[in-house]
Amino acid sequence: MDEPGALWCPSPNYFPGRRGQRPRWIIVHGTAGFASAEEVVAFFQHPETEASTHYVIGRDGRIFQLVREADAAWGNGVVSRGHDRWWEPLGNPNYVTLSIEHHKLRRDNGDELTAAQKRASFLLIAHLCERHGIPRRWADAQGGITGHFSLDPEGRSYCPGPYPWDELFSYLAGSDPPHQMGPARSRAAEQTLSDRDPTGAGLRQQLAELREVAAAFQRRLINVELELARLQGQERPPGSRTIKRSPRR
Ligand SMILES: [Zn+2]
Repeated sequence: MDEPGALWCPSPNYFPGRRGQRPRWIIVHGTAGFASAEEVVAFFQHPETEASTHYVIGRDGRIFQLVREADAAWGNGVVSRGHDRWWEPLGNPNYVTLSIEHHKLRRDNGDELTAAQKRASFLLIAHLCERHGIPRRWADAQGGITGHFSLDPEGRSYCPGPYPWDELFSYLAGSDPPHQMGPARSRAAEQTLSDRDPTGAGLRQQLAELREVAAAFQRRLINVELELARLQGQERPPGSRTIKRSPRR
């Protein structure tokens, strides 16, 4: 799908196309509960939920994509009193937004992102900005990045809850657009990193975290393969929420 490495788990809950508009804002959400990212994904895949986001990021850093970026997910429909001023004249904000859910365990969204979740979130946001020309800054009338609270301060003041905004914006300010990242640039980046980290402790930590993420991907891969094997030769019950729509080309 749109984001390399994301797991495609299509949801039927979206508007096809964007009525000629393009996404200009990224809206950050927290799930306020749910035992696992898979549960969140299944919830958004259920037609009766009538809600979805483009992406869900698990606490292990896995990224699930539910709606194509060219389509309008049903994540940001309600605009309530006290919202940022630019939303109202736009009509339905879903046509101009991309939305990202972050799996959080606490009902009040009080938990911080995990390190893996934060890295995945920053990288995804950088890619979305790059793909759609979205300003890499706090949202204003022209576009940018903000939380669900910006649209619905009455109902969703706690969404996404704690999120490392300052870190995100310094990351985005320092990150090069992917098309400028040649091998020469990567070597330069490694040089700087080992200068700042002469014992390699930081790199070892990073490696350990990446291995965790890789192991989680491996587990997911095996689960999907097993599931697929199980389904071959087995008729799915009609209306089952696990029926997958074919990705549209
Ligand atoms: Zn939200």
